Amino acid sequence: MNLATPLDAIKGVGPKTAEQLSDAGLKTVADLIYFLPRKHEDFSQVTSISALKPGKVSVRGRFENVSGKRMRRNMSIVEATLVDGTSKVPVVWFNQPYRAEQIKKGTEWLVSGEFGLQRQKYQIVNPSCEAVSDLPVSGGRIIPVYRAIHGLKSQLVRKLLIELRPVITMLPETLPANLIKREKLMSHADAILSLHFPESYEDLERARERLSFEELLALMLAALLNKQSNAALKSWAIPFNEHAARRFVAKLPFKLTNAQRLATWEIVKNFETGEPMNRLLQGDVGSGKTVVAGMAAYMAAQSGYQTAFMAPTELLATQHAATLQRLLEPFDMTVALLTGSTTKAQRTQLLPKIEDGSAQVIIGTHALFQETVNFHKLGFVVIDEQHRFGVEQRQRLLEKGQNMPHLLAMTATPIPRSLQLTVYGELDISLLLERPAGRKPIETRIISPNSRAQMYEIVDKQIADGRQVYVVCPLISENTDSELKSVEAELKLLRSGPFKHRRIGLLHGQLGSPEKLAVMEDFVAGKLDILVSTTVVEVGVDVSNATVMIIEGADRFGLAQLHQLRGRVGRSDMQSYCYLIPSTSAKPSQRLREMERSNDGFYLAERDLELRGPGEIYGRAQHGQLNLAIANISDTQMLKRVRTASDWLLSQGVSLLQYQKLTTEVERYRRLTTLN
Ligand code: ADP
Ligand code: MG
Repeated sequence: MNLATPLDAIKGVGPKTAEQLSDAGLKTVADLIYFLPRKHEDFSQVTSISALKPGKVSVRGRFENVSGKRMRRNMSIVEATLVDGTSKVPVVWFNQPYRAEQIKKGTEWLVSGEFGLQRQKYQIVNPSCEAVSDLPVSGGRIIPVYRAIHGLKSQLVRKLLIELRPVITMLPETLPANLIKREKLMSHADAILSLHFPESYEDLERARERLSFEELLALMLAALLNKQSNAALKSWAIPFNEHAARRFVAKLPFKLTNAQRLATWEIVKNFETGEPMNRLLQGDVGSGKTVVAGMAAYMAAQSGYQTAFMAPTELLATQHAATLQRLLEPFDMTVALLTGSTTKAQRTQLLPKIEDGSAQVIIGTHALFQETVNFHKLGFVVIDEQHRFGVEQRQRLLEKGQNMPHLLAMTATPIPRSLQLTVYGELDISLLLERPAGRKPIETRIISPNSRAQMYEIVDKQIADGRQVYVVCPLISENTDSELKSVEAELKLLRSGPFKHRRIGLLHGQLGSPEKLAVMEDFVAGKLDILVSTTVVEVGVDVSNATVMIIEGADRFGLAQLHQLRGRVGRSDMQSYCYLIPSTSAKPSQRLREMERSNDGFYLAERDLELRGPGEIYGRAQHGQLNLAIANISDTQMLKRVRTASDWLLSQGVSLLQYQKLTTEVERYRRLTTLN
């Protein structure tokens, strides 16, 4: 038997069990060994019922008088009496209806949970329980509990793992011996063994420490190695030209904020060194990131370098092209736009200009980095509304020129410290904490769905004053199953009712690109008073004359998204308003109240983290595939320790190649990219 052995080759695994395991994603011995417990239950201190005191307790006994009831509002309750040789005690479970069936089966049970006053009587509430006959015979009394994927039973997993014990003890070490010694860590095999068969809590703690260390080490090494290999690349040394900088600033229609000045300074300092810049510009919505990138592009052009400016959507690319055109016009610079809707004829005209260098700033979507696009001298790459570039993108860019261009990523999403150290560890960071002068906080209010009429009156006054309005809805078309608003239905409603005298446009993702751009152009040109849209306006759109954002079905959006949407207004010194309309008139959620309270994206991001928990945020959408089974990414103390150890390890110059598990993981993280 080895790690690759299929599970159905193990003694006692028939076709049915194998299928159950496979449904839970467990196919090989390795899968099962690395199927780590979700938690551990402590049955080590069993109390007799007559001696129970309030608090966490474990009791061994039989169940009597089991009864299950459904209550109002889908609540259910299961009650029973637990009896041992000394006395009896009531046990109750809320919303775990399966308990009634479960506890009728076994005879003797280990029950572990909170003993206390509940509904006027002392009882054990929502305990976990394990049939004594199912418990491992050897070892301590701390029992691992596994995730019940598709009804997979912990008891089955435990039984099979006993068979696999010899394989676990033979697991190869994943870290260099001198590192283990330096950090006084448990061996890899012992740690995995302890999680499945813990002897004591101390033992379990050491196992967790070892595996957290190992998981975070892979992440940290990936960041440091990426940084090293980036620094080893050659870039262009672009000298700082003070006169040019002054000329640019003099032509701006506004005064740069100090934060913008400082960020620009950090960028041109990087340019000078000839080491490739890899910088993240972090600034809340409306903080003015675009002009920072524009100025840097101008500086690069002074030394004959081209800038490629990449945006996530065509809408944004088109808008950036217009903005940069305006900024760079006084200097006779040529700004080009290249997207999926650029016609063949336009491309034929454009590509030679990019190739001979007469187009100095080229803006576009991913289309920019296709093979057919050849740059004359690409010195600077800006990526808007993305957190970072992957190794692969960097490779593609390198192929576009002799040297690595300087990279600047821009984002409005605040990145917590812990991620700055690991996932983003290879980046230098510039912050725009300040907003342009004269900006008033956006007045934000939750409006009950029944009070739309008054709100529409206020909004109509804004339109009468020449201002523009966004109305965002969660859906595109009407859906009979849903009470949520759709942009199509909302358009009809507004046109026939409160705003029949106003010009209203429609924007959503299913429109063709030319249509989308045409609508957006009309809105920018002031030919529309109201834009009814899905969240396609969420990212980056900049129309400073818009002062009202109405969000329908606001309870359906996350805090970060709400803040992004709200950031479409408040982009001038005029007072702006944001109205949040929940889909029902029930009490508004905490999230919406936070939006009323604060305009600060950094504060909201922290609250978001608290309200949703890190798993929700880091686990999926944004940071994708972090392989952290044990480690907690916000454990800054452990991160510091791992950082020191990683630096030490790299300074030793030992090859990590023989530690296959570690290197595979490090390589995976190095490639991991959020640019998709
Ligand atoms: P974001 O950081 O959200 O990308 P933008 O770059 O779109 O912000 O800038 C938001 C708006 O603020 C734009 O209309 C821009 O012209 C304007 N702006 C940027 N910097 C300043 C400044 N220093 N003073 C006044 N307005 C500014
Ligand atoms: Mg922007």
